Amino acid sequence: MSLFVREMPCRELVELVTAYFDGSLSRRDSRRFEAHIRGCEHCTTYVEQMRETIEATGRLTEEDIAPEARDEMLAVFRGWSGGRGSA
Ligand SMILES: [Zn+2]
Repeated sequence: MSLFVREMPCRELVELVTAYFDGSLSRRDSRRFEAHIRGCEHCTTYVEQMRETIEATGRLTEEDIAPEARDEMLAVFRGWSGGRGSA
């Protein structure tokens, strides 16, 4: 737990992933994003999937994110009742 940096929830990370890859995320949010990935294997997997999509298509847009993939992630997040999810 950090007193100085507000933790980025998984849900926010999913929303920001396109901005992260196209470089439009603020420096502060990029730091929070990367800090979150380091401690969250679910989001690491998600981000890796996005990276593979970018490598396959050359760029990432909202349309490139399979709705099923996002729904799957959000379902996982909903399954977390606090605990490690906010750690
Ligand atoms: Zn996460």
